Amino acid sequence: LQTKLPKVGTTIFTVMSQLAAEHGAVNLGQGFPDFAVPQRLIDELDRAMRAGHNQYAPMTGVPVLRQAIADKQLRCYGRQVNVDTEITITSGATEALFNAIHAVVRPGEEVIVLDPAYDSYEPAFELAGAKAVHVALDPQTFAVDWDQVQAAITPRTRVLIINSPHNPSGAMLAEADMRRLIEILRGTEIVLISDEVYEHIVFDGRRHESALRYPELAERAFVVSSFGKTYHCTGWKIGYAIAPPALSAEFRKVHQYNVFCTFSPAQHAFAAMIRDEPEHYEQLGAFYQEKRDHFRAQLLGTRLKPLPVPGGYFQLVDYSAVSDLPDIEFVRWLTIEHGVTAIPLSPFYDNPPPGQRLARLCFAKNQATLDAAIERLKKL
Ligand code: PMP
Ligand code: GLN
Repeated sequence: LQTKLPKVGTTIFTVMSQLAAEHGAVNLGQGFPDFAVPQRLIDELDRAMRAGHNQYAPMTGVPVLRQAIADKQLRCYGRQVNVDTEITITSGATEALFNAIHAVVRPGEEVIVLDPAYDSYEPAFELAGAKAVHVALDPQTFAVDWDQVQAAITPRTRVLIINSPHNPSGAMLAEADMRRLIEILRGTEIVLISDEVYEHIVFDGRRHESALRYPELAERAFVVSSFGKTYHCTGWKIGYAIAPPALSAEFRKVHQYNVFCTFSPAQHAFAAMIRDEPEHYEQLGAFYQEKRDHFRAQLLGTRLKPLPVPGGYFQLVDYSAVSDLPDIEFVRWLTIEHGVTAIPLSPFYDNPPPGQRLARLCFAKNQATLDAAIERLKKL
């Protein structure tokens, strides 16, 4: 068989979770919470199933959910989004990203990816026959060098993908970044894909710079988010894409033959949560900030050096005081010999920076889980 994805193996998240299970390690690798989802969400899911919402949802998503999302965007980002023509509910952000890419990218076109980047982007570009053009983020601060982005643009550039708060680094784009982005994209045909799955997990009073805040960006963007991150239920796999009508129409052509629609009962449950409990997403930053601060304070008692975490639920650590192993070998060693699982950074790169000694730890965990990991990390 001539493989269409020669560079793709099993994802690092699966590989590391399996290794963690085999060795009974504390799994701070793959990003998922180990605490309960809000009880109200379970009750609403139960209610939706009992009320008979068990058949196909409308292809674009259930109307009450699209309405709740539209109201929320207006409240959070000041943009009025059309409920019928601009919002599509998907099977997680992963499906939304895949659809957005396949809806607009043609063979031979170029897409600009900022490395390190979430691992699902590149295979989707490859399947679409596009060429990924990688621009490196600053290896220490993970800031975008917009001059380099501008220099990477050619007449064939079709898509630029951004992700803030950023996985794996937690870096966030600031208003100045968005203003520069507007200038760079002005006058081009480039479609922006803005991966905003960690939109509510932001710290220290920072503001999430959604592309929806900027009309010039929103008019050319797919804004992608995921309820998995906001409601602690990564296994439910529900997300959405917001895009102007013409882009949404193309997106829906892919979506309807990819999955057609996604799990109906959960759509009703999320609609109720968003509508009735805005405190949940408003307080999510504070909820995770407490975990971040506690975890970071404890990491100071280890030989791992924590990098700043402006947003998201991942803590990068520099392990160079502990080991000079390349990151994939280091995280295997850490799992097998010390019982703590982390994610290496090199799989997020086309060209990993030589000598980078960073690993990613997920702090979306109960205090007891984080404490157990710290006890083991202190022995390094
Ligand atoms: N984008 C980023 C940056 C992510 O971290 C994740 C989840 N790990 C996704 C997309 C995918 O989200 P979902 O689980 O909703 O498909
Ligand atoms: N997004 C999660 C992470 O970055 C993993 C998702 C997955 O396992 N595919 O850890």
